[in-house]
Amino acid sequence: MPRLAACANALLRPVDAPVGREPVVVAYGGGVDSTALLVGLHKCGRQVDLILFADTGSEKPQTYAYLDIMDGWLIQRGMPAITRVKRNSPRAGDTSLHGECLRKSVLPSLAYGRHSCSLKWKVDPQWAFCRRHFGWHSRRLRWAHGPTITKMIGYNAGPKDAKRISNAVGKRPPGHRYEYPLVEWGWDRQRCEDEIRAAGLPVPLKSACFMCPASKEPEVVWLQGNHPDLAAIAMEMEVRAHRRGLRTVQGLGRRWSWTKFLLERSSQVGGRQ
Ligand code: SF4
Repeated sequence: MPRLAACANALLRPVDAPVGREPVVVAYGGGVDSTALLVGLHKCGRQVDLILFADTGSEKPQTYAYLDIMDGWLIQRGMPAITRVKRNSPRAGDTSLHGECLRKSVLPSLAYGRHSCSLKWKVDPQWAFCRRHFGWHSRRLRWAHGPTITKMIGYNAGPKDAKRISNAVGKRPPGHRYEYPLVEWGWDRQRCEDEIRAAGLPVPLKSACFMCPASKEPEVVWLQGNHPDLAAIAMEMEVRAHRRGLRTVQGLGRRWSWTKFLLERSSQVGGRQ
């Protein structure tokens, strides 16, 4: 089995790697896949130097709460605690992606088919932190310790994530070597959930901004039921974007508006009562 082979190799490695080795950084999102990644790396005895969580300020409360659970689990096992990194926005003063969208009367860029929201609020802050932390020489295009750091990404072994991996080729910051251990181990979504439970952890909620345009209808219904205040912010975002002249898409769902969907749904539910 690929997982066992990978683990066996990792166990042969010394826990205290020699000084000057390539640091290992985990991109942690607080969801199922990246949690399973940390569980698997612990099982393999693979040394991890830094666990980065890029905080958009717009994650669901359950995700923020899970970071504390995960911190406790990691520290108990001698792994590094999660380092929260955030976009630095001193001029505009935005402390969250939804705050930025409301100020500009726009939707997160994914609604327009672009990915700058995650580049700006997730990729860039991690890159900036690593530059400072490991000492990046921008002229020599290398780190103080050598040419690369290893970045571990929790893409799973399912077909959807295979597409994400191939789409990411050529779009990564320099000085990085990427590893996708869940793919190497053959862990699909179900296996990830099983491994999380077996490690004594609760299975986390899908991690994403509460107003992420990739959300499906049941997730929007869940948000309205569990966090009506956040659903109201998402709807306000659509109102402001429309006021500014939004034409290319209907709303946060691209071809559908969350506001319209939730209003129609509540009138149907109300009509049945
Ligand atoms: S979770 Fe969605 S809204 Fe948030 S940064 Fe990623 S793509 Fe953009």
